Amino acid sequence: EKYVYDFTEGNKDLKHLLGGKGANLAEMTNLGLPVPPGFTITTEACNIYLGSGKEPGALRDEVSAHLGALEQRMGKRLGQDDDPLLVSVRSGAKFSMPGMMDTVLNVGLSDTSVAGLAAQAGDERFAWDSYRRLIQMFGRTVLGVDGALFEDALEAAKQARNAATDVDLEVSDLRKLVKRFKKIVSDEAGRDFPQDPREQMDLAIRSVFESWNTDRAKLYRRQERIPGDLGTAVTICSMVFGNLGPDSGTGVAFTRDPASGHRGVYGDYLQNAQGEDVVAGIRNTVPLGELESIDKTSYDRLLAIMETLETHYRDLCDIEFTIERGRLWMLQTRVGKRTAGAAFRIATQLVDQGLIDEAEALRRVNGAQLAQLMFPRFDENTRRELVGRGIAASPGAAVGKAVFDSYTAIKWSRSGEKVILIRRETNPDDLDGMIAAEGILTSRGGKTSHAAVVARGMGKTCVCGAEELEVDTKARRLTAGSTVIEEGDTVSIDGSTGKVYLGEVPVVPSPVVEYFEGRMHAGADEADELVEAVHRMMAYADRRRRLRVRANADNAEDALRARRFGAQGIGLCRTEHMFLGERRTMVEKLILADTDEEREAALSALLPLQKKDFIELFEAMDGLPVTVRLLDPPLHEFLPDITELSVRVALAEARKDHNENDLRLLQAVHKLHEQNPMLGLRGVRLGLVIPGLFAMQVRAIAEASAERLNAKGDPRAEIMIPLVGTVQELEIVRDEAERVIAEVERATGTELRLALGTMIELPRAALTAGQIAEAAEFFSFGTNDLTQTVWGFSRDDVEASFFTAYLEKGIFGVSPFETIDRDGVGALVRSAVEAGRATRPGLKLGVCGEHGGDPESVHFFHEVGLDYVSCSPFRIPVARLEAGRAAV
Ligand code: PEP
Ligand code: MG
Repeated sequence: EKYVYDFTEGNKDLKHLLGGKGANLAEMTNLGLPVPPGFTITTEACNIYLGSGKEPGALRDEVSAHLGALEQRMGKRLGQDDDPLLVSVRSGAKFSMPGMMDTVLNVGLSDTSVAGLAAQAGDERFAWDSYRRLIQMFGRTVLGVDGALFEDALEAAKQARNAATDVDLEVSDLRKLVKRFKKIVSDEAGRDFPQDPREQMDLAIRSVFESWNTDRAKLYRRQERIPGDLGTAVTICSMVFGNLGPDSGTGVAFTRDPASGHRGVYGDYLQNAQGEDVVAGIRNTVPLGELESIDKTSYDRLLAIMETLETHYRDLCDIEFTIERGRLWMLQTRVGKRTAGAAFRIATQLVDQGLIDEAEALRRVNGAQLAQLMFPRFDENTRRELVGRGIAASPGAAVGKAVFDSYTAIKWSRSGEKVILIRRETNPDDLDGMIAAEGILTSRGGKTSHAAVVARGMGKTCVCGAEELEVDTKARRLTAGSTVIEEGDTVSIDGSTGKVYLGEVPVVPSPVVEYFEGRMHAGADEADELVEAVHRMMAYADRRRRLRVRANADNAEDALRARRFGAQGIGLCRTEHMFLGERRTMVEKLILADTDEEREAALSALLPLQKKDFIELFEAMDGLPVTVRLLDPPLHEFLPDITELSVRVALAEARKDHNENDLRLLQAVHKLHEQNPMLGLRGVRLGLVIPGLFAMQVRAIAEASAERLNAKGDPRAEIMIPLVGTVQELEIVRDEAERVIAEVERATGTELRLALGTMIELPRAALTAGQIAEAAEFFSFGTNDLTQTVWGFSRDDVEASFFTAYLEKGIFGVSPFETIDRDGVGALVRSAVEAGRATRPGLKLGVCGEHGGDPESVHFFHEVGLDYVSCSPFRIPVARLEAGRAAV
């Protein structure tokens, strides 16, 4: 077993073993780039340590051997008194976990070697400052001393000297500070700061191992869905210093602009400084371009290295570098983060440069990025007043009047005002207000706070955790520095950047949506480039995907939009949506009908309306399949509210003003009232209980098809039965449907070829899919209800109740209603696919739950071999892209 790799031994593909940092340092070393020598301890060693509480037996000797080689190379020993080799001990996992784990710099300094460093560097102040930093970092991370104690002592030293920053401290101050820091360590840690350099290093290594399992690291992993058993590597790298004078410095660079993808010189440089100084923002950095006039040799060298890295990694890289007395060193590189727009542009640019092929380009973008590009945004070109900034919790651009409670949000929005609901944090009581608002702004809570989770679920713009904003809900006021926003003042919030503006910032539609809508005209150059890139990537995806993409749509307008967005049919037309609004009472009449005459009257009133709806829909989707689902409302959605009705009746009683009708209605509603409507008289059950209902719908579909055929159209309706649990239910409905279809065919002289299939949305249906396939020509997985019934989670309630707690505890990283639960719900889907196809090899298979438009879920549906996914019209481009990505 090998636990330690010299930088010359590793490479970029060993991230699982060497962590991202160690692997890329090795890669750069082997490319011949100037990397300070060092070595990396593997994640395996970490995992053994974490599992057993002991380092693997061979580790100490291996580290000694590598340290010895390093010392030989550098011509000095670790912590050598007159010329100390100093090292950094850094964490680094396979997946980046920024700031979550430990790092210790300047390891090797001691009371004696600090003088050696001072002599070698010719700079006493530098040496003592480095020593001070080591004790501080080591004390806090390795020995667990409260960091505030060091900061307070540093602050006190600055005050005593009347120094604005720590750069103004003098050697004597720093010596005193070192003494003070050592005292803090011995008081707090119950041991002295170790003077033996090797002991420092060994303790730092162990502490990096242990930092894998801190609470915050665990929480971060659960949220980011990083497995908990990967462990961290430890990279030990000889120190180079950017703070040795004006000919030294440190900086970051990007091989191209992470915002636009354009090539050029992007980054920041800070003269006479170390990496932490840049992060701490002690002094202002200068644009990287200015390095050319500061140190032309290093600048040219850096640009050449950037070119090498980009060609080698075939992607945008970000880089950390240090210049030590005119000598350039590479401290880190990795494939860099970028904006959604830049991801699309860079991918196509790299194809054009011949660096990657189309399949690789598809791997470089994702559906979440495309979705982000489809939100409307604030007009870049207008002036605006930034008042604060929070976490970008749910994308979009929202403008409205500030309100501070849900009641006002609802009241104002009913009277036609657009409102932004501002709360310190939200809770389930705010739900109605959140629905009424254009957007939600909170001053507390992170990406998994109630506000964030619920807003994302609703697709509503949300900025949360804007801590610099003081929200006073009692006074109905928000204070941000000197700005005061009162109830009724207009605010604009950007859920993609987390920025909050005073006043109305104009919103412009997304150029990408304009493109999909066919309305994209040549506008600003930026937009053109983006649209061009999206257009090409969609073509790459469409050429490769096996999954077809259909839309969930119930009216001609949505259907037409879906078609423009690339839908290849309708996978779910929810007919109950055709009976909302004014038509609701017609369904109510049908459900409450006492006599055959009443029922038939209700049905005959509905038939022509249904038929007209279908004709429009089939026309909009001419030539493409349209899956019409027979009525599936939870009963309560179509009945009068029982409480309201009871009150009305009680009030009438009190006034001695009997209303026979209301009384009868109340009795009927009572009779039909269900404790669990979602598990009640819905779907096929309703069809079996109310005679003539499904027959009427089938007739409407058949007659609409016949009419379209006679008009030389090409209607392709498919009839889908919802909420089936057993094949017997399906057989009864099928027999009746076939009778009705045959009748219509006879009467109209047409041949209709209407396919009949079912939804698989109950566990029993999935478990008996083999039997159900006897009576179904197609399955469409209703993963909304399937998730509800497999987990036993009420789909209408959970997101607003205990899901926040579940997400915070990391029980799942994302709601199973959003991304398919592969292990549970997914396993049922997989087995139903196999059983269904075993019975009926030509069985057509799709999915029409919300998961059909979810990027990760699309990959799953590709894997299990569905024929299509169906999703809301706006998600169609995302589904197309992800289906293409799943196939490469
Ligand atoms: C489903 O349950 O996944 C489905 C598509 O049906 P609905 O959402 O209408 O219940
Ligand atoms: Mg359903």
